[in-house]
Amino acid sequence: MVDYFFNNVKRKMNIVIATKNKGKIKEIKDFFKQENILPGIKLLTSIDFKDMPDIEEGSSSFFKNAKLKAQKTAEFTGCIAIADDSGLTVGTLNGAPGVISSRYAGFNASDSDNRKKLLEELKLYNEPQKRSAAFVCKMVLWDPQAGMLKHTSGICRGSIGFIEKGTNGFGYDSIFIPEGRSQTMAEISDIEKNMISHRGKALKKMSDYIKKTFC
Ligand code: IMP
Repeated sequence: MVDYFFNNVKRKMNIVIATKNKGKIKEIKDFFKQENILPGIKLLTSIDFKDMPDIEEGSSSFFKNAKLKAQKTAEFTGCIAIADDSGLTVGTLNGAPGVISSRYAGFNASDSDNRKKLLEELKLYNEPQKRSAAFVCKMVLWDPQAGMLKHTSGICRGSIGFIEKGTNGFGYDSIFIPEGRSQTMAEISDIEKNMISHRGKALKKMSDYIKKTFC
């Protein structure tokens, strides 16, 4: 095992981020840059592998979906892969949109369609506690030879606003107000988002592991 890690360190290891979502790619790359682990590793993404098939996330669990994406990407590319599965859960809606966050309004739905549907579903609920929500992230690091090396998670609690505000970020950011704030996630800077977000928290634990193990 020691030899294995040593050889990888010498080679400047490739790590593939298992996603084609440009918003996520930007967040993850910025985060690793900020954590100063890029001199030790080369970051690739699923977009760099032209024939990479889309991976069906059929499970009802964020963790199982993240594991599947990481495993399939590592096996296809032959590189260590990091995958996250994330989404928004709303208590009043029994956890929806949950694992189908990216296709809440249908298979070809845009982020804007999904936000509109969620605002519509909540339109009868005016009390703040009925609009409480949380972003959840499960993250997995998978090695093509050794299997799962690490998994981490993060959660960001908040509530759903009444109208869209802000232009940063992606997905549900412009209608999600993090706990203790008055601005939406789309109104705060990328650096601030990374400090409080579900993915930022999961990434922090993952980058600590990568630093300790590979850099
Ligand atoms: P995934 O790519 O299967 O993990 O789908 C995640 C979906 O959840 C995205 O397409 C967004 O709709 C939503 N989502 C996850 N993380 C965020 C975030 O940080 N901001 C806004 N929406 C998010």
